[in-house]
Amino acid sequence: MEKFQKVVDFIKEQYPDKDFVSLHEPVFIGNERKYVLDAIDSTFVSSVGAYVNRFEEMMAELTGAKYAIAIVNGTNALHLALLLANVKAEDEVISQALTFIATANAISYIGAKAIFIDVDRETLGMSPTALRNFLEANAIKKEDGAYNKKTGKKIAAVVPMHTFGFPCKVDEIAIICDEWNICLVEDSAESIGSYYQGKHTGVFGKVGVFSFNGNKTVTCGGGGALITDDETIAKRAKHLTTQAKVPHKWEFVHDHIGYNYRMPNLNAALACAQLEQLSMFVENKRVLSAKYNTLFNELSISFIGEPVNAKANYWLNAILLADLDQRNEFLEYTNDKGVMTRPVWELMNRLPMFANCQTDDLKNSIWIADRLVNIPSGYRVK
Ligand SMILES: *Cc1c(COP(=O)(O)O)cnc(C)c1O
Repeated sequence: MEKFQKVVDFIKEQYPDKDFVSLHEPVFIGNERKYVLDAIDSTFVSSVGAYVNRFEEMMAELTGAKYAIAIVNGTNALHLALLLANVKAEDEVISQALTFIATANAISYIGAKAIFIDVDRETLGMSPTALRNFLEANAIKKEDGAYNKKTGKKIAAVVPMHTFGFPCKVDEIAIICDEWNICLVEDSAESIGSYYQGKHTGVFGKVGVFSFNGNKTVTCGGGGALITDDETIAKRAKHLTTQAKVPHKWEFVHDHIGYNYRMPNLNAALACAQLEQLSMFVENKRVLSAKYNTLFNELSISFIGEPVNAKANYWLNAILLADLDQRNEFLEYTNDKGVMTRPVWELMNRLPMFANCQTDDLKNSIWIADRLVNIPSGYRVK
């Protein structure tokens, strides 16, 4: 308990003006008010407006992708990404069991079925070894892609997720996807400002997806983005997010089932102001992570650091306790003392909606789920 009290004291010192320290609060200390008021004054508050265009340019520039499309939120961006990856109802999509529910939900929106495989302990993201092993044991190659030997269904996409902003080994995953002719869609919802081998996360596959929800590193209330280098996909993305309306001065004609998935200009204004501060946010968070690293070294508690070849945004810092009992003790102790801590999401295959999905042994996922706790990670106002 003495150890846990030291953690509580340390965290309270980092956030001296807070009675209750939450996991990740947004801060609006840049041009947020100015841009939002400007959007209101312009009367373009909805899905067309200068900030939407600017946001898309900023996202393309940040990530190095050729195209970025503003989307109403990250979950819908994932749904759209899977549509653009040509995933069809009845297809199968491989993702990781250790992820936020949105990844699995988006797969379900298509009518596709998820397969959940294991993560690496050092990245917390999809394990390329698990992916290769799964495919070698369960899939066969056909002319138009990979098929699951057991179900006879097409494995249409692989969706790795960069957990808490720590890049997974997405270069190796991309190679495996190429070998098996499976489309790679990156769920980079948590990893804005995170780089792998010098490249921004989200650019390793056909499509990458981001979230700007209130708890993320950069927020616009609610928002998402899709990035791609493929011009056809980018055009289809814009088209499908705007009800698939055929451009015309006055005619209302639609040529496809479309979606109202565009980000309102009001939110884009907020997003632009926040994106301007991204590198400052990330640097601030990295200083905190370095301090956490020192503290947890002293206390002999395992702290998750950035993987090799990666620069992480440290969206949510995480520690690993000795076992499930100690994890629960820690959660109880810290939350009682006004410091918010949280276990990792329940593994997807343990949820009733996904209980009958195919999985591998999920050895690391289960091990991590028993031990991992997220600790306060928000921007510290100095
Ligand atoms: C936040 C998040 C999303 C969804 O984003 P929303 O903008 O909240 O819809 C998707 N995937 C992961 C892994 C996330 O953490």
